[in-house]
Formats: sequence, structure tokens, C-alpha cells
Amino acid sequence: MEKRPFSELGLSPELLKAVDKLGFEEASPIQTAVIPVALTGKDVVGQSSTGSGKTAAFAIPAIERVDPKLRAVQVLVLCPTRELAVQVAEEVGKLAFFKRGVREVPIYGGQSYERQFRALDAGAQVVIGTPGRVMDHMDRGTLRLDALQVVVLDEADRMLDMGFRDDIEKILSAVPESRQLLFFSATMPREIQDLIKRYSRDPAWIKIEALAQNRPQVEQVWFEVDRRSKIEALTRLIDVNDFRYGIIFCSTKIMVDDLDEHLHSRGYATDRLHGDISQAQRDRVMQKFRERKFEFLVATDVAARGLDVDDLEVVFNYDLPNDAEDYTHRIGRTGRAGRKGRAFTFVSGQELYKLQGMVRWAKLDVRRGRIPSLDEVEEAKTNVFFERIRATLDAKQFKPHDRMIDRLLDQGYASTDICSALIHLLHGGESGSAAPAPAVAPKTPEGAPAWVKKAMSPKPGPEVERVAPNALPSPAGKPPTESPVDEDEDRESALEATRSTSKSKYERPARTGREPGFTTVFLNVGRKQLITPADVVGKIAGVTRLPANVVGAIDIHQRHTLVDVAEGHALAVIQKLGGIKMKGVALAPTLAQPGTAS
Ligand code: ADP
Ligand code: MG
Repeated sequence: MEKRPFSELGLSPELLKAVDKLGFEEASPIQTAVIPVALTGKDVVGQSSTGSGKTAAFAIPAIERVDPKLRAVQVLVLCPTRELAVQVAEEVGKLAFFKRGVREVPIYGGQSYERQFRALDAGAQVVIGTPGRVMDHMDRGTLRLDALQVVVLDEADRMLDMGFRDDIEKILSAVPESRQLLFFSATMPREIQDLIKRYSRDPAWIKIEALAQNRPQVEQVWFEVDRRSKIEALTRLIDVNDFRYGIIFCSTKIMVDDLDEHLHSRGYATDRLHGDISQAQRDRVMQKFRERKFEFLVATDVAARGLDVDDLEVVFNYDLPNDAEDYTHRIGRTGRAGRKGRAFTFVSGQELYKLQGMVRWAKLDVRRGRIPSLDEVEEAKTNVFFERIRATLDAKQFKPHDRMIDRLLDQGYASTDICSALIHLLHGGESGSAAPAPAVAPKTPEGAPAWVKKAMSPKPGPEVERVAPNALPSPAGKPPTESPVDEDEDRESALEATRSTSKSKYERPARTGREPGFTTVFLNVGRKQLITPADVVGKIAGVTRLPANVVGAIDIHQRHTLVDVAEGHALAVIQKLGGIKMKGVALAPTLAQPGTAS
């Protein structure tokens, strides 16, 4: 798999400078093979895996062909999704940076025509668009292709999967005969070969095999998880590994909404992306995710397709992807540019056979892992906290509180006890004198509202440097996911995960009557929606901003939940929760009638 310096590929000084500015040290194998051939004007069919640098492989020769003085469309790039069109446009913009007078414009559905007209009118030479919107503009006469030199089909296989075949054929039939055609695809199914035969002239076929060293460095692990335990398993894996930046793939929009909401109420910074979300909102979410304004993006395949985000620590296949192709696309989002990434895949029931099929077909290198136990999660969190204290001490990043400490020491308390009491309070513990002791006071950040997690977090915001390194030793001295385990142990931990979902350690024993000082509130969600006590506390604390200890006993029934709320706060809770969604159900809280507590 040959790689060469860009300086040997015949580029103009402007493009060489741009590549250098982008920090690319040498051309990737697909770039090394494609660029010199494409520069001669020959049609090219390029095939290589996700993340191998196909964008620059077609964008560099295409930009070289552009005559900046001619204010007409000379390059047309077709992409399957709006996200990809925007990304490719950004990369084209960077590569054309030093070639003055070259302008690019992404055109896609969901964005106003006005803006696109203006850019086209102003003489953009490189148009990057989704087939549907490109057709629209051609029909309206706002996109004229008579000066076209190069047509690129990026992710051709995806475009066909998404039903763009007719549009693509119409576009290819309407462009000038003399154009150069560049075809890019990760796979070459029959349909694409037909398309190539029909529309290209004697193309150079360039295929880069994904050799091990070439493949993204992704550690792939699968977990057998009972469907109902998935959320618990997910949060444990996140906590044990202290992940801070990743994508969680679900199979449906409903799953995405549901999981996003659930993680949110457990105090994780998440956002979501799927086909029903407006374009403007999607752009905002993507922008925020790139800037690391939140930790986990919950998404469907279509929404996240072709998405170029660097540096993901982890990709979770919360639901098994449809096929090996989707699997590869998904995990290609991590382990980029030689950095190590992780891909965790959940499998439940019959899906195991599907995964085995994918492993055989695509020769995936996936090993089995074990969901960490609650003890391991606690241990890992303690380690993170320990590192955080140590780093704060080492960096002397704290205000002295000598007076208060001296006062306590003067009263005869030992310094170790003082520290222990502080840590206890910081973990959401309660002071002994406050009566009565609240029933539901999270002792650890697990399931605790966001502010508790934040207080425990090794870094105050996602954009701040991580204090503790990723590798958190488990009691065995290895990361828990690494330890090989036999099936029984695995099943045991899956069971445990089930148990702790249905009955959290914060859940109180069946109650006998209403506590003094508490009012019972009725919520129209229950076991049917897989509600856990931690969900309820998290939701109330998150929405009302009241401390978690205003919540007392929680009784979860099949279709409803009874929550004790400290007197004086019940009405506020009812008011603020009204209409808020929990597990997809709009809450309609009311004061519980006496006797409802069965
Ligand atoms: P593909 O389209 O094959 O999936 P991309 O073109 O999206 O891959 O490239 C993946 C990532 O690699 C991008 O972040 C891109 O900026 C980066 N990249 C591309 N070419 C190089 C190179 N020669 N050196 C270093 N990084 C590169
Ligand atoms: Mg690409």
C-alpha cells in the first residue's frame, strides 16, 4: 500500500500549500493512487474503506481543473446526505484556500433556495449537493452545467441505497459529454458497476484493500445484553471507562429519542440526531458536537452517515447495525488518523447469529466482553475522583479554607474525619443532623442529577483537559472489559444489570404509609415504560433544579408511579413536570388521592 509525499503527485504550489496547512504529512494510499491519474483527466473509479481519505483524493484533482476566472460551475460533487455535502464543501474550501477566486457552495434540501441562488449567481465553480436538490436547481434553471468539467459521485453505494438512482442518472445524462467522471464508493455492488459501465469512458479502477495497518485502529468488543438491561450496561461502560466523547447508534428514531432522554435524566450531556429533526436543528447539533459542547451523540445510521468527527473515544452499537457495511461505517467514526478508538456492540437474543454472520463475512476482529459489575463501576469512579483530588492538590488550584478547618480541628475533629465528611457531602450524602433522613439520597453520582455528576466529574466541562487518563484499572488490575470471562459470569452480570434496573439500590422497601412532611405525587409512567427510581429523581432534580433530597419514597407500579415530595415543593414539582416527556410519555402529574398508595 503505497503512500507518497504530496510533492510527488504533480500538484500546483497553491494546492501543496493548502495540504500542508491542513497538516497532512503524506498522501494516503487512495490519494497516492488516484490523484496523478485524475490529474490527466481520465475517469476514475476509486474504492477504499471509510476514513481512508477519499474526499481529498477527488477534491484535489477537481480543484486543480477549475479555472478561477470563469464564473461558472465546473465541478459537481454528488453526496448522499446534507451533512456530508457540508463536510465535503468545508474540505474543498480548505483545499482551495490559496487558489484565489475559487468558490464552493453546498446545496441541499432543507436550506433556503435564496441563499443557494445567491451563491450560484455569484459564480461558485464547485457545487457539492445531494442529488434531489441538484435536480431541483437544474429544473429551475438556477444550476447550469454547460461549463462542467468534473462530476464526482461520493459514497455512490450509499446514494443508491437511499434511492437516488433515478436522479443520478438524470443528472449524468444532462451533463456535457466531455466531462471527467470520478466515482467513489466503499463497496462495488452490481448496480454501481452498471452505472459506471453506462456513464464512464474507460475508467481507471483503483481499489485499496483495507490491510490491517490501514484499517482504523479500533478495539472492537461485543456484549451479550438483555434488551431491558441495555441502558444500565451502557452507563456502566461509560462510567468505568470514563468516556467523554462518543456516538451511540440506535436503530430507530424512537429509540434515539428515548435513549437521549434517559441518558439526559441520568446526568449525561447528550444530544440526538435523526431524520425527523429539522435541518437547522441538525446543523446546530453537529456544530455543538464538533465543539464538544456535549459528550454523547445519540443517532441513527442515516443521520450520522459520512459524518466526519475526529477523536471519538468510543462508538456504541446500542442496537446491532443491519449489516457488516453499516457496522464498518459506524466504527469508522472512531480510531481515525492513527488514534486508538473503541467500538462496543450490544447483542441480545437472536442477534448473536447476525453478529456471527457479519464477523465471518467481513472478517471482523471483535472479541467478547463483560459488562462491569456495580463494584467495578464504583471502584473506577473512586479512582477518577482520587486522581482529581490529587491533580487539584498538585496544581494548587484551590482557595485555602484555613479558618473553617482550624475551627473544626480546634473542636477536636481529626483531619482524616473532616476530609471523609466532606467527601461524603460531595457525593450527595446528607449531614446527620438533618431530620428526617431523606429516603432517596443518591450516595454516588450514578443515577444522581446532573449537578451531582458535575461535582464529581474529573473535569468541569467537556472542553477542559482530562485529568485522569482513560485507563482505569479494575480491581483485577486490568480494565474490566479486557478480562476474558466464561459465559456463566457474563450471564450473571447481565442478570445483575437487569436486577439493578428494576430495583435500584436507592429504592426503598415497600412503604407502609406516607412519611410525615411529604406529599405524594402521582405520575402517569411506570414499569411499563421501564422507569427506575433513579430516573424519577433525575427527572425531578433536572427539571425543577431542586436538590435531590426533596424526593422521598418512590413506588413504581405497572402504569403509574407514586413519588413522595417534601411538603411545600409538591405543587412546584407538579407544575414543572407537567407536559415534560419521560420515556416518550408526556407527564401529567397530580396530587395522589389518599388510598392510591397500594
Ligand atoms: P473517507 O471519505 O475515505 O471516509 P475522509 O476523506 O472523510 O475519508 O477522511 C477522513 C479523515 O482523514 C478526515 O478527517 C481527513 O481530514 C483526514 N485525512 C485525509 N487525508 C489525509 C492525509 N493525507 N493525512 C492525514 N489526514 C488525512
Ligand atoms: Mg467520504
